[in-house]
Amino acid sequence: MTGQKDKPDTIAVAAGRMSEAHFGAVNTPVYRASTILYPDLATLKANAQPYTYGRRGTPSSRSFEEAICALEGGARTMVVPSGLNACAVAIMAVCGAGDHLLVTDTVYEPTRKFCDSVLARFGVETEYYAPDQDIAPLLRPNTKAVFCESPGSLTFEVQDIPAIAAAAHAKGVSVLLDNTWATPLLFAAIAHGVDLSIQAVTKYIGGHADVMLGTITANDSHAARLVHCHGHMGLFAGGDDTWLALRGLRTLPTRLKRHQQTALALIAWLQARPEVSRILYPALPSDPGHALWKRDFTGANGLFGVVFKPVPERALAAMVDGFSHFGIGYSWGGFESLVLPAHIKRTKTAFAAEGPLLRFHAGLEDVADLIADLERGFQRLKDHS
Ligand SMILES: *Cc1c(COP(=O)(O)O)cnc(C)c1O
Repeated sequence: MTGQKDKPDTIAVAAGRMSEAHFGAVNTPVYRASTILYPDLATLKANAQPYTYGRRGTPSSRSFEEAICALEGGARTMVVPSGLNACAVAIMAVCGAGDHLLVTDTVYEPTRKFCDSVLARFGVETEYYAPDQDIAPLLRPNTKAVFCESPGSLTFEVQDIPAIAAAAHAKGVSVLLDNTWATPLLFAAIAHGVDLSIQAVTKYIGGHADVMLGTITANDSHAARLVHCHGHMGLFAGGDDTWLALRGLRTLPTRLKRHQQTALALIAWLQARPEVSRILYPALPSDPGHALWKRDFTGANGLFGVVFKPVPERALAAMVDGFSHFGIGYSWGGFESLVLPAHIKRTKTAFAAEGPLLRFHAGLEDVADLIADLERGFQRLKDHS
């Protein structure tokens, strides 16, 4: 369905369709299957059919994997039950007992917890590095992988992925990237030297706050390792969820543009407020990661951090609790606006905030309604200060 030269927006619409196999239906229907029947013993013996057993993939999971793979520009994509699981499985595909793993200090906190607990128990040593650090001197003979996340969780530091990949590959070390912020549309991970690109599909790709999934996409050199690890761990994603995720993916390019547009409008309003100290968003020229973002990314999304000047806790609570459109909750990337206080836990670097840090997600509501909501919130902040 997709031509070599199609642009990403077109690939998002066209990739992974299997209409011929489904009586012309545009969307691959939901397949619920465990046993897949074989026509005869010879086919069984040769394992000569595309689908063999539910756990090893159905048309629902393959359609979604093919679409993500086409967008990521990889060799193979595997779908897993959550974004966190995608981080864990990507690491387990390349690391084993006695190995050393480098992980950015700005990593999503549950990924850090996986490394420090389960992974440590299996004999992998994790060392954290500053997101802008030269990793070359940190590479040891037993270093197997560098795990990146760019922009970083909560504080959005942009990493120099091509430089990290060059240093790692010179020593035969794999490069893993949690590419959730950018989605495959805003940062071409594989083309920038990443070996395994991770998506928390739960966020923008699903896009409707109703599905949890993750994907890992491998380049040629890492495809076999990924497929084996995924298969031997018994991972599977159900037909309903992969169908929802693929449905979300079709409108991702349009949604992302609107999320970015609304975020920029909210940020412009927030920057003029005396209560705000600074905004964390790489698309802003004032952001420390702006030059790298501009060089490597093709856009931004609806997620940004707001560092406030010091305010009493009760004032912040009055503001946040009273919002009509910014819901308090984890995750992001759905159609709805969200707000969450961010507590930064780092071990290698320090994040010095002047006051409280709130993470906002700009949803698809009318921007005037969102600004009016913020305006009423800042009035409450003032009233309770
Ligand atoms: C949310 C998130 C994850 C985890 O995704 P889940 O589907 O919630 O497990 C991983 N990485 C990043 C950067 C995330 O924001």
